[in-house]
Amino acid sequence: MAEILKGKVVANQLKENMRRDIEELAKANKVPSLAIIRLGDNPGDISYEKSIVKNCNNIGIQSKVIERDVNITTEDLVELIEKLNKDDDISGILIFRPLPKHINEEIIRNTISPLKDVDCMNPLNLEKIFEGQMDGFAPCTPKAAMKILEYYDIPLEGKNVVVVNRSMVVGKPLTMMLLKENATVTICHSRTKDLDKVTNNADIVIVALGKAKFFDEKYFNDKSIVIDVGVSLDQNGKLSGDVDYDNVFQKVSKITPVPGGVGSVTTTILLSQVVLASKDN
Ligand code: NAP
Repeated sequence: MAEILKGKVVANQLKENMRRDIEELAKANKVPSLAIIRLGDNPGDISYEKSIVKNCNNIGIQSKVIERDVNITTEDLVELIEKLNKDDDISGILIFRPLPKHINEEIIRNTISPLKDVDCMNPLNLEKIFEGQMDGFAPCTPKAAMKILEYYDIPLEGKNVVVVNRSMVVGKPLTMMLLKENATVTICHSRTKDLDKVTNNADIVIVALGKAKFFDEKYFNDKSIVIDVGVSLDQNGKLSGDVDYDNVFQKVSKITPVPGGVGSVTTTILLSQVVLASKDN
């Protein structure tokens, strides 16, 4: 049976560090603050927003929710972001994604100030990740996966790591973070052939498909370390990862649960980046 790599302890350790940083900032009369822009009333966004606001309150970060109609124009959204860019009382800006289809995402990504870009939307911040500079803002989900590996002392140097995802929010930045730690990384996607053979040859497998219980035992060996980033609903409407957890858990050496794994660290990473933004602004 596998060791369960729970996210909560990782998040707690990050929060402890954050509390210390927030105390230091208070001495300089600085209070970290996050502006959250929500377009429309998507239930998923509202639930994420509630969780972020609650976490901000608990740790001493101010938060301000700005709700706009889902039909807002790109121009009006740009105007709002520019106002927040100039607002000294705001350290970080978060815009819920995916943006409505009519919004020009490229314009929005380039409008958000790189200094307040706590969700790493601006290409300038993403570029830093691709250049191996990991001390700025990073996409929260891959950073959460990295923090879990670090917390549980899982060595990466020289290890074979398979990442099943090639998106710009998860797979590609995650690959750069793993390379920085000297892992040997293979990226897989929907056109990869014999995926089970590839994952079976890896020391660590990180999956982010968004297909509930897709990965059964055949994808892993008894030494596999499995990090499950996927979040979706299974046939019974229950929150599930990409891994068929109950069965795979019996076989592999370490595994993150869903819920309670990567997702439980992601929000804390976002907050830590608000604190970072407050230090720099
Ligand atoms: P995405 O853009 O849809 O990426 C999915 C990836 O999976 C793509 O690279 C796709 O390949 C690959 N894929 C799909 N079917 C496959 C198959 N049968 N075999 C191999 N690869 C396959 O999604 P995303 O935005 O990156 O998010 C992925 C998952 O992560 C979702 O479940 C999302 O909910 C979750 N997520 C979790 C968190 C968290 O905090 N835990 C945060 C963000 C996202 P192609 O490129 O070839 O299409």
